[in-house]
Amino acid sequence: MSRRTYELRTYGCQMNVHDSERLAGLLEHAGYERAATDATPDVVVFNTCAVRENADNRLYGNLGHLLPVKKSHPGMQIAVGGCLAQKDGARVVERAPWVDVVFGTHNMGSLPVLLERARVERESQVELREALEVFPSTLPTRRESAYRAWVSISVGCNNTCTFCIVPSLRGKERDRRPGDVLREVEMLVADGVLEITLLGQNVNSYGVEFGDRLAFGKLLRSCGDIDGLERVRFTSPHPRDFTDDVIDAMAETPNVMPSLHMPLQSGSDRVLRAMRRSYRAQAYLGIIDRVRAAMPNAAITTDVIVGFPGETEEDFAATLDVVREARFAGAFTFQYSKRPGTPAADLPDQVPADVVADRYERLVALVEEVAWAENKRVLGEVVEVLIAEGEGRKDGATKRVSGRSEDNRLVHLAPVDARPGDVVSARVTYAAPHHLVADEILGVRRTRGGDAWQRGTEAADAPPPKQRNAVPIGMPTLRLG
Ligand code: SF4
Repeated sequence: MSRRTYELRTYGCQMNVHDSERLAGLLEHAGYERAATDATPDVVVFNTCAVRENADNRLYGNLGHLLPVKKSHPGMQIAVGGCLAQKDGARVVERAPWVDVVFGTHNMGSLPVLLERARVERESQVELREALEVFPSTLPTRRESAYRAWVSISVGCNNTCTFCIVPSLRGKERDRRPGDVLREVEMLVADGVLEITLLGQNVNSYGVEFGDRLAFGKLLRSCGDIDGLERVRFTSPHPRDFTDDVIDAMAETPNVMPSLHMPLQSGSDRVLRAMRRSYRAQAYLGIIDRVRAAMPNAAITTDVIVGFPGETEEDFAATLDVVREARFAGAFTFQYSKRPGTPAADLPDQVPADVVADRYERLVALVEEVAWAENKRVLGEVVEVLIAEGEGRKDGATKRVSGRSEDNRLVHLAPVDARPGDVVSARVTYAAPHHLVADEILGVRRTRGGDAWQRGTEAADAPPPKQRNAVPIGMPTLRLG
């Protein structure tokens, strides 16, 4: 008998992307296989996000599109999990009775059993838990990349930012023990992974559960002792908890990359207070100064929300000032919109949509200008690019190979004989606001199947295989924190 097939549809942040790797692992462990791209799957799983605007409309719209497909494919099942499922629970089945399974953020591991139960009992199954059942890292996983992996160090968040639904859906922060985290990293490296990203809603408060406020810096340093681990990143830090020992650990641990994505959200102290973000603009800029003092070429990126309730033109101008002063290499920018269930949704003085849109446009223009200027600073520098699966681009007849530099910048390279997982050393020849082009290839380092440093044609001044903090560039990779 052929195996039942599945398709996963993921929305939202890195946390969800990583959770989807767990869901795929769980399903495959239970005997399912991933559906071919053009085939109708037996099971469609939505891993939802409640943070984004119109998340509900999008989900129910997609479920509506699936109804006729399900009718014409007897036996097909639909499951809805993630933050929106945790928020809506049984309402999902009330609005879309053709959904077979609803599961929450705390019981991902139940998915295969719930699917089976729904099939046998011919009845929708809704199962949510108020607290985490099993730390997701103990579940099987199906990684999307052979060379890069996420590693959860914590789930949940103890903060109460007024615009954020995460604390009520993901619960209080739970920290994994450092030994468990490091064991997972070692196993990933043994499996060929070169780059890991330590993942938590607030990585800087890691250790709060077991009473060690220096735990995150120690964890970074321990990652530095793992042979074969080339690159360590993390997301998201919270400015309130960002301590100097973490900056020291970043600067002193060679495989911790010189990039930092630290959410600003607003440059106005008044708005930060209303957001319940317990740092102020000067404190934020102070962290950036100390990061740059320790790592002069670190690339720093951020998240910014415009149009938070009560934001005045003066507040917005303060945000623009911080963006200029911080010299961000990139930013995720968001227009504030009400999220039901968050304290900010009930605040007076909601900013009119046209004002929000106007400020948003001005913010984006400034972010692009600053990011482009930052990128131009690296013209002529040498970058080490870890070639990634699935990234590449065509410039006319030229098919480029692409990857990320040490500080996480997207770099498009001249055609070169390099495979995913190889590290290419190249000189930057062009800078755009969102990427670099490096047409002068200096060498390719095979990271698997032989470690030979293969020199390119212009290799006379090729750098050594490992060189850090060489290039002040970076791109954002996350959305919350
Ligand atoms: S924005 Fe980040 S730090 Fe604030 S409550 Fe949400 S997850 Fe926690």
